[in-house]
Amino acid sequence: MSGVSAKATILIVEDNAMNMQLATDLLEVAGYRVVQATTAEEGITLALAERPELILMDVALPAMDGLAATRRLKQDARTGDIPVVALTAQAMAGDEARAREAGCAGYIAKPIATRRFASLVAGYLQQAAAGRPGTHDGR
Ligand code: MN
Repeated sequence: MSGVSAKATILIVEDNAMNMQLATDLLEVAGYRVVQATTAEEGITLALAERPELILMDVALPAMDGLAATRRLKQDARTGDIPVVALTAQAMAGDEARAREAGCAGYIAKPIATRRFASLVAGYLQQAAAGRPGTHDGR
């Protein structure tokens, strides 16, 4: 693992308990500190409080959805510079465009690819550190 991603804090906003557990386990094993939110509102609150290096944002959330939450984060000067990567189960044409329009750096498709997930996250962290726009995961 590269130096830029070691011990970075990742905020996961995900309402599905199994997905949250899997993503958390994979990232913690890779050395990240994980902060969890199960709603968009809680995610915004924790983004402000924790200043994570990256936010993984489920698109389908109760009440406010993940793309609306991303727009809020991007419009706020306190959180607008934190890269947001969408977690989407609806990997279809147009998803990446919608995620980018909302301000996401890209997306990672669900179901979570156990063997690749941490390296995908590391890639987004490196892109953010380098100031480059993100790319999707190529699935
Ligand atoms: Mn969901």
